[in-house]
Amino acid sequence: MSDDFDLDLFVIGGGSGGVRAARIAAGYGARVAVAEEFRYGGTCVIRGCVPKKLMVLASRFTDDFADAAGYGWSVGETAFDWPTLIANKDKEIARLEGVYRGNLEKAGVRVLDGRAVLEGPHAVRLLSTGEVFRARHILIAVGARPSLEPMIPGGELGITSNEIFDLKEQPKRILVVGGGYIGVEFAGIFAGLGSTVTMSLRGDKLLRGFDEELRDRLGAAYERKGVALKFGTTLERLERDADGAVAATYADGSRGTYDQVLVATGRKPNTADLGLETTGVALDDGGAIVVDGYSRTLCPSIWAVGDVTNRAALTPVAIREGHAFADTVFGDKPTMVDHEIIPTAVFSTPEIGTVGCSETLARQRAGEVVIYKTAFRSMRATLSGRDDPVFMKLVVDKTSDVVMGVHLFGRDAAEMIQLAGIAVMMGATKADFDRTIAVHPTAAEELVTMRTPHVEVKKGTSAG
Ligand code: NDP
Repeated sequence: MSDDFDLDLFVIGGGSGGVRAARIAAGYGARVAVAEEFRYGGTCVIRGCVPKKLMVLASRFTDDFADAAGYGWSVGETAFDWPTLIANKDKEIARLEGVYRGNLEKAGVRVLDGRAVLEGPHAVRLLSTGEVFRARHILIAVGARPSLEPMIPGGELGITSNEIFDLKEQPKRILVVGGGYIGVEFAGIFAGLGSTVTMSLRGDKLLRGFDEELRDRLGAAYERKGVALKFGTTLERLERDADGAVAATYADGSRGTYDQVLVATGRKPNTADLGLETTGVALDDGGAIVVDGYSRTLCPSIWAVGDVTNRAALTPVAIREGHAFADTVFGDKPTMVDHEIIPTAVFSTPEIGTVGCSETLARQRAGEVVIYKTAFRSMRATLSGRDDPVFMKLVVDKTSDVVMGVHLFGRDAAEMIQLAGIAVMMGATKADFDRTIAVHPTAAEELVTMRTPHVEVKKGTSAG
């Protein structure tokens, strides 16, 4: 591409979406630069999915040690050392950051450090050097940041998922505000690591938007683990105690004292101070960049992918959007991303895997739905005696027999839902599930051996 541009593509943001877009575009022969103001890898690698999962794995040894006895093992004294976990996690994150940078360099992408801001439809300034780049296309992939809502007196005493990964000490008592993905995952982590965990939830269940039975089961499992769930509560203020702890006062007048308060009440797109006003790029009411199905903004030379567009704020979605953008713009393959069916997992303990419609949503969409569900003690739990049933639910459209939703609760649900997601994506019917031979003995085999419908509901009626 020869023209008066310095670059074919300037990517702002070196996270999951930006890095994928840059590499694929460079692979098509585009001249590409990426700027990242923090660390390459973005939220997912540096302070999100990856370190979170390492901490989830650490937290699950507690159950593993306890379960071992039924299998004849004497584990003996166990002790957990927070600084060791954090140091080892940091080492792994630094390694991955290097891999991200290395992959960009190998692909021929110019890797820049520093904040980049827009100065028009084709111009980007790198603030660390003052250099201005003229690019044929610009991709905004700057992600999102934790919201600090509700803004309450003393709110600054709380921490967010940005800080939680670097705490010097494990909090003995932690309050988690919010019962979404981040809230339930960290509540599970700290409960597993032996902290006393309280969750403050403005609603009456965890995980809004998920199938109701998964929400109920997770709440019950957390209460069995000793997590205190304060439903229907809001915080009024936070204050620092004389001994350095944080005293929380709730709207109903009750109080609690904690070593840390994690605010996990959602994330907001990082669109402030980006120079968008110089470009004609539009934002929605939540501050997210408005894009079309190809991730193009209202300014034809500027595109946006990932959390900054708030379509589905998940790493694999950002990666897919970044790839589709590069295929569309540089690969001569116009590609839209299907946001309709997205398999997802919540790394609570027990874990959740889900794809497609919840029972409630399916009932609104389909004429009639058939529900298949099972709850059973996994083989592992037989000798360990653990009382954490696995739960599985299939939501089937009665007319077409298509499986509209799969909802899993229990060990390895995340691993299972990835594969069930393929079937749902392909439009598999319940008959397809039925004619698939079971893999025995596994928990997953139950997915293909449920034969008796639990309940049939006509559109508009409520399920029992
Ligand atoms: P979520 O949107 O998932 O959950 C936010 C929670 O905070 C909800 O429980 C919500 O309550 C509550 N809340 C919102 N505003 C307030 C308020 N003003 N006062 C009190 N409570 C409030 O956000 P998260 O921060 O947990 O996660 C952000 C996003 O990150 C997720 O949506 C997900 O896309 C992504 N993520 C994905 C993960 C994964 O794939 N495993 C892991 C971690 C994050 P209510 O239900 O009443 O609205």
